[in-house]
Parts: sequence; C-alpha cells; structure tokens
Amino acid sequence: GPQRLARDKHGIDKRKVSRHAIKVCEVLHQHGYAAYIVGGAVRDLIVGLAPKDFDVATNATPNQIRPLFRRARIIGKRFQLVHVVFGPEIIETSTFRAPASEEQDTDEHGRILRDNLFGTHEQDAARRDFTLNALYYDPIEEIVIDYHNGVRDLQKRRVRMIGDPETRYREDPVRMLRALRFSCKLDAEIVPATREPIQRLAGLLQNVPDSRLFDEMLKLLTCGHGMTCLRELHAYGLDKTLMPWVQTIFSTPEDEAFVTLALDRTDKRILTGKTISPSFLLAALLWKPVYRQWNAIVAKGEPPAPALVRAADEALERQSGKLGIQKRYVADMHDIWFMQPRFERANTRSIWRMLEQPRFRAAVDFLQLRAEAHEVDSVFAQWWMDLANAGDTERARLIEERE
Ligand code: ATP
Ligand code: MG
Repeated sequence: GPQRLARDKHGIDKRKVSRHAIKVCEVLHQHGYAAYIVGGAVRDLIVGLAPKDFDVATNATPNQIRPLFRRARIIGKRFQLVHVVFGPEIIETSTFRAPASEEQDTDEHGRILRDNLFGTHEQDAARRDFTLNALYYDPIEEIVIDYHNGVRDLQKRRVRMIGDPETRYREDPVRMLRALRFSCKLDAEIVPATREPIQRLAGLLQNVPDSRLFDEMLKLLTCGHGMTCLRELHAYGLDKTLMPWVQTIFSTPEDEAFVTLALDRTDKRILTGKTISPSFLLAALLWKPVYRQWNAIVAKGEPPAPALVRAADEALERQSGKLGIQKRYVADMHDIWFMQPRFERANTRSIWRMLEQPRFRAAVDFLQLRAEAHEVDSVFAQWWMDLANAGDTERARLIEERE
C-alpha cells in the first residue's frame, strides 16, 4: 500500500493552502467520498513555493460532485471534470482516472489518444507523470498519500518518471518537456533512467498538436528559469526540426545575448510575483531574425515601416516552425514590433496618437530591452519610458521640451 506521511514528514503548512480547496475536500468528505489536493500544488507546497492553482482528486464522479456545490460546472467532453467556482478562484475537481489501456487507445508510436476511464486512487497515481507530481494531500488529516516515493524524490530534488520512462514518453511526448521544466524550476536532477530516452525520442514531439506544444513552451519559458529551460531544451535536441527559432538563438551570439536579457527580465518579474505578457516574450524571442531581415530590406531602399511589416512576415514564416503561435499573440507581437520605427520618427502630433495605442506600454518596455542590448540609444529609450510613466501634464512638458 501507499505511504501515509504525517505533518513532520511532508512539512506542508496548512495556512498556505487555498481555503477553497480545503472546503471542496471537506464537503466531499462529509458526503462520504475520498478527496485530496493533488499534483503541482502539493509539490510546490512541500518545497515551499507558492502554488499557481489547486486541483482536487476524488472518487466521486462529476455527476456526484456537481450538486454538492452552489457554483460548479462540468467541463470537458472525453474526460469530464468539475470546476468548482469561488469568486475568482476555480478548484478543478476530477475523478480518479485509470491509465489508458494500451491496445485500444494509443497510436502507432504509442501515443495516448483516449484517456477516459474512471479508476481507483492507486490507478490515478500510476497514470501521473513524475513521482513528485503524484502526491495527494488530505487537508483535514494533514497527511500526504504517496504511492511512488515522491516525497523522498522531491526532497532529494530528483525528477523520476513513474513506470517505464520510454513507454511513458511514447504515450505522451510532452512529458519530455515537462521533465525539463520541473528539473529547472525545482533545481532537480532528472534521474538517469528518466533522462536517457529523451534525446533519442525527441522526434516524437512532431506528433504533438501545435497548440499543446505552444502551451507547454510558454510554461517552460515562464517557469521562472526561462533561459535555463531554453538551454536544456537545446542541449537535449528537443528543438530539432520543430523549433528553428531556438536553433537560431543558440547559433547566433547576438541573438543569445538578446534573448538572455529578455528572459532574465521575465524571470525577475515572475519570481517577484508580477505578471508577464506572453506576446512581449514572444516578440523578444523572435526579434533578432526580424531585425536582421528588416535591415536587409531597408538597405535595398524600401522605407522602414513597410520594410518591417515584410520582415516580420518573412521571419515568422521561417522561424516559428511548429510553435503555432495563435493569431491573437501574433497581432500583439506586430503591435509591439511595428511601434519601434515610430519611436524614431515621432513628432508632437504622432506622439499623442502613439500614447493612445493599447500596446504602447509594452512597446516602450521593448524599446528599453533593445537599449539594454545596445541596439538603440539608452537616453532615447529612457525618454520614452519617462513619458510612459508620466501623468498628462508631465507628458505635455516632456513633449514640449523635446521640440
Ligand atoms: P504547474 O505548476 O505548471 O501547474 P502541474 O504539475 O500542476 O504544474 P499541470 O499541467 O497543472 O501541472 O497538471 C497537474 C497534474 O496532472 C500534474 O501534477 C500531474 O500529476 C498530472 N499531469 C499533467 N500532465 C501530465 C501528463 N502529460 N502526463 C501525466 N500526468 C500529467
Ligand atoms: Mg497545475
């Protein structure tokens, strides 16, 4: 059976646990069901990080869960789960799930296509990816249920796949990216057996839908250790064929320097609890190839503004690969990029118009990043930053003095 670890073995401070997640567990218990906080929240609480969100796992089915809460809705088509809503906080509550059966539900590479059967607590633990992600916290008894020695691995900072690593990577190649992310985020070692297949199986990422790959990439870049993650991604060859933009970064020193600056900024914001904008980050990651292309087109005599539009199109086309950037992000990236030549050409009238643009603030942040990379003058960038930070009267004065 599993280990049942008391407070002195897991060290979770109950005061750091979402009271809404505790409430969901209490209500389910009162109705005779088992219920635990599970996954990333338990992992983060044990190592003293603040969890992003709280998930609950239970032996109650969605139709049994929903009537127990005032605001709860069933979501998902294939595998249904329940969102229990408390104001802005959503507690994702799912029924214990069994692993997919191999013959019926996997494609020819072993990738799971269907994953929809309810299961026992033990099966639910076995279908999770790493031992440190398969921990269940009972907030009432304050114990952690641990089927796979996850607490030990977590405390020793080891990322270890549950089951046979190669089989589990074949079922879901995204687990390769997740292994890197948790090792960077927790400063943990990927144990040899879990590490060894990654380089060999990197090509399987080709079978993953673009949108899923994109989501996981964003998580990697915004885990608080973005540059380390990117370097590891490259070192394991996970960027091969899929992500030409990552390969470009590491084959061009000025690109690497620029991206390092951008990701260090992002990491600092994340570690101090600030929000980051994915579009800003993507604009920075793909900027240098755009910038080179822009300069090349301008050198042929085309005016800067239309040249930049064309450069952005061409570079995105060549670089993004399987990144599959969604349209709304591309639109924001364009706004940030296309404002750059306007900073240099600005006059009194156009400055006031630029101030009204929704992405003005992000574009000025971007200008400052370019100044840090010695692409534009830093006094010039600082003037725009002051303008962005100023109130209306102060703005009028700054613009007047500039004339
Ligand atoms: P984060 O801090 O990024 O939210 P997380 O571990 O909570 O990390 P989620 O994607 O939110 O990651 O998933 C929640 C839990 O579901 C994981 O802790 C893990 O137990 C399980 N899980 C998620 N993705 C997979 C996967 N691809 N294969 C197996 N189990 C997974
Ligand atoms: Mg999570």
